[in-house]
Amino acid sequence: DWLCWGAREQNKISESEDLIRIRITCHPQSRPTARDKRGTRAAMGGGAEGVEEVGVLVVGAGPTGLGAATRLNQLGYEDWLLIDKFDEPGGLACTDITPEGFLFDMGGHVIFSHYQYFDELIDSAVGVGDEHWNTMQRISYVWIKNRWVAYPFQNNISALPKEDQITCLEGLVEAKVRCATAQEKPKNFDEWILRVMGDGIADIFMRPYNYKVWAVPTPDMQCAWLGERVATVNVSKAIANVLHNREEGNWGPNAIFRFPKEGGTGAIWKGVGRLLPKDKQQYGPKMEVVAVDKDDQVITLKDGRKIRYKALLSTIPLDIMCKFTGKPELAANTTDGLFHSSSHIIGLGIRGKCPHGLKCWLYFPEDDCPFYRVTIFSNYAEKNCPEGSKKLPTLCMGDGSDVPDNLKGDREGPWWSLMFEVSESEKKFVNQDMVKLGGTAGTWSDVVRDTIMGAINTKLTDAGCEIVSIYHRRLFYGYPTPSVGRNNVLDEALPHLRKHNIWNRGRFGSWKYEVANQDHSCMLGVEAVDNILTGAREMTLEYPDIVNKKKNHELLYMKKGTV
Ligand SMILES: Cc1cc2nc3c(=O)[nH]c(=O)nc-3n(C[C@H](O)[C@H](O)[C@H](O)COP(=O)(O)OP(=O)(O)OC[C@H]3O[C@@H](n4cnc5c(N)ncnc54)[C@H](O)[C@@H]3O)c2cc1C
Repeated sequence: DWLCWGAREQNKISESEDLIRIRITCHPQSRPTARDKRGTRAAMGGGAEGVEEVGVLVVGAGPTGLGAATRLNQLGYEDWLLIDKFDEPGGLACTDITPEGFLFDMGGHVIFSHYQYFDELIDSAVGVGDEHWNTMQRISYVWIKNRWVAYPFQNNISALPKEDQITCLEGLVEAKVRCATAQEKPKNFDEWILRVMGDGIADIFMRPYNYKVWAVPTPDMQCAWLGERVATVNVSKAIANVLHNREEGNWGPNAIFRFPKEGGTGAIWKGVGRLLPKDKQQYGPKMEVVAVDKDDQVITLKDGRKIRYKALLSTIPLDIMCKFTGKPELAANTTDGLFHSSSHIIGLGIRGKCPHGLKCWLYFPEDDCPFYRVTIFSNYAEKNCPEGSKKLPTLCMGDGSDVPDNLKGDREGPWWSLMFEVSESEKKFVNQDMVKLGGTAGTWSDVVRDTIMGAINTKLTDAGCEIVSIYHRRLFYGYPTPSVGRNNVLDEALPHLRKHNIWNRGRFGSWKYEVANQDHSCMLGVEAVDNILTGAREMTLEYPDIVNKKKNHELLYMKKGTV
């Protein structure tokens, strides 16, 4: 069975597994020839000397690339190769470990799956049940006006000072009237906020918080992406909650979530990598794609190696791919086009017992700290911290100062940990000068010191606590901004690439925040493979609203298919 590239069936909706069972006649030119050791075919016939060949080349072993490779493997299609410039799979869904033994994900990663395929895959990779997963109830708060307000903020204004309650309720009522008489849809996220929540909630929470998250002002963002992601407000309920002084927490898609007992989020994707043939995965800095010849369908790697592909399934950020393929004008980092923010992930390992109960993650809209979100990462899994019996020295005190003599030396735990996220963009500066902290903590970017001080301002820590581990990583590509001009670029860039047999997919590959979580990314890869092999429609890419509204059972990992 082989793939006939000329006879791809377009526009079929992938409603059942049966579609991918189509047997496709082999095009004579596409038959595999002698395979080299790496599993790709040595150049034959029309190929230039030294150019390897492969049917489907998957670039990037994050959730999207791993989803794609999983699907190729599941379908028994053999002529594929997965490459990544990092040393192991995971991409942004990886987990780092500090020298002291504290684990940190790349920001708070919570699994809320819209797909049965994804559930089956990650269970196969990690294991099934309580032995392998912790099931957590979201306990989430907003730190504002010197107090914790239950999440989502807009349903819990009863926890605010009286004056703010009045401002928020007035805004809500005005918004309801405005909404009822509005002739047009809101043009951007800011208008949407005003329309749905009114000026009070906008000024107290939504505008400052969203600026901190996205690193762009809300008028620069579109509102088509919102879907299930932002809780709207039931005005009558909001008024009743205020009058009854009632808290209402359990809104939304991730009220219950699960987390691996061991190895952090990265363990999931390392596990998925292990399910795939080893000889079809190549990792390391030499595997970085540095050029794409879209006409010859050849990529060049950092070490000069060249690989010809029939289909390129790339998770390289779309702006870079546009530059590689002769469309640099689509790559400008502006809110008229493809804008993105960077994320600083800062982790602290701390001696003692966690003073925050079972809180999971917390939001910070105000300017007394640089971070917008903090995860109490030690609450997600015991093994996110070293064993309590491990002896560690205190690096510095909670305010970054020297360690007093009586606290010096290696001592046992227990330990707990905090993971902070700070956004940065061309519209939001983050100071990254290097500064020396006290004790033996060493030299860190200024954002780390600001975070340590912000943790004290927001009562997450205090000056007397003992910091035993510090972590910082800057992710240049953090959030693909749903900017006002994004769709115009996507409408041009993705078809341009597709014309050249390039399926650019994933969080930054297809740049759609509304389908950029792990489950979406994985399925973008799976569905792109189905599209390559059979022309099946890519529901996640094309219809984010539909896939996000339901649990999707059409594709299954446990069911074997053939091509
Ligand atoms: C701060 C933050 C919080 C998040 N929170 C959540 C959450 O709560 N829940 C959730 O489900 N998801 C969350 N995510 C999203 C999750 O991380 C992504 O869905 C997922 O990692 C995207 O997968 P991807 O494969 O598309 O991209 P990536 O994970 O970015 O993987 C792309 C891979 O391609 C490789 N690559 C790129 N360019 C090249 C090149 N030129 N040559 C070779 N290799 C290359 C990279 O090394 C990388 O491994 C969060 C992400 C961030 C940053």
